[in-house]
Amino acid sequence: MFRKIKGQESTLELLQKAIEHDRISQAYLFHGSDGVGKFMTALYFGMAVNCAAINQLKPCGICSSCHKFLSLEHPDFLYVFPTPILNLNAEGEIKNSDVAKQYQAYLKNKISTPWQEFFFKEITEIRKESIGLLSKRLELSIHEARYRIVIIENADMMNIPTANAFLKTLEEPPSDTVIIMITERMQMMLPTIISRTQPVYFKPLTRGIVESILINQFEVSDALARTASRISAGNLKTAIRIGSDNASPLRDWAFEIITLAAKSDELGFLALMDKNKDRQKKDQLIELLKYVRIIISDLATLSTESETDITNIDMIDTLKDIAKNKTELSSKTYEYLLWLEDLNRKIDGNVNLNLVILNLFLKTKNLLSA
Ligand SMILES: [Zn+2]
Repeated sequence: MFRKIKGQESTLELLQKAIEHDRISQAYLFHGSDGVGKFMTALYFGMAVNCAAINQLKPCGICSSCHKFLSLEHPDFLYVFPTPILNLNAEGEIKNSDVAKQYQAYLKNKISTPWQEFFFKEITEIRKESIGLLSKRLELSIHEARYRIVIIENADMMNIPTANAFLKTLEEPPSDTVIIMITERMQMMLPTIISRTQPVYFKPLTRGIVESILINQFEVSDALARTASRISAGNLKTAIRIGSDNASPLRDWAFEIITLAAKSDELGFLALMDKNKDRQKKDQLIELLKYVRIIISDLATLSTESETDITNIDMIDTLKDIAKNKTELSSKTYEYLLWLEDLNRKIDGNVNLNLVILNLFLKTKNLLSA
């Protein structure tokens, strides 16, 4: 089953060697950017060291132990991730019924559509109560597994007191237990925690790998797979979302703004502002600017280089339409992109977001009106 994980060959080899030579660490820290296979590898690693298959590559994915892991229901699998306040009772059950429902939905999403982002309604972090429950469970004996497996996702999302409580567990790890922490933000991890783990690095996926996964495993068309792999910058989750949504609504929005700007259609722009007024939130605008940057770069590319270098290859006709007769575009693009960077920084500060979009429209109109 390790073969299902693409683009991490050297990392997988390292882990498989550890299994073969029975040199399994008590604590690992899987780090690297989002959407490159860290959770899946952690789960498969836990399955492999417990797999009951005899003459097969482990994990087999079909024995009873593998099954229980795949449904995240193995009694010796402990899974900790950032949550709202759970109000756990002495048995470790979540007392708040709305949060309990969301918690189950999180698990279900993790099993069936892990590329979707699941958002709790409340603010999340790794709670001291979750770490408390974990350490209580680790004091109990193992039910049936050869190794008890603990996965702590987004391990950087612990406040200092929680991290210090967890450190006690790491300092005296129970036997036959493997703790795998996962993080995208290594710099946010406490050095005292890092030093008690074996760090394992996951590199970003190449465009080619993302593209082939989309085409072969998700039946995304060649053109869209190519677009998604370029926009996602090595993040498979993002790429799958773009590929399966048939392009993100934010990308559509960016195309609409640019098309209206190219036509100097101010009335059309005002109507569009009105239609999208619910979307004017910081993180959405930052995403929007990302798409604008890619589309404008495509337009500049179209005017100087070959079509095969553009990112939004599925939108080639629209792009050609906008770029028509705009011979000076590529010489003006650099200044525009610098301006866009600056605008991006301003969104992070306290600015009127309506004004940001209006400025974006005017500046783009100016760029494309030549
Ligand atoms: Zn198995």
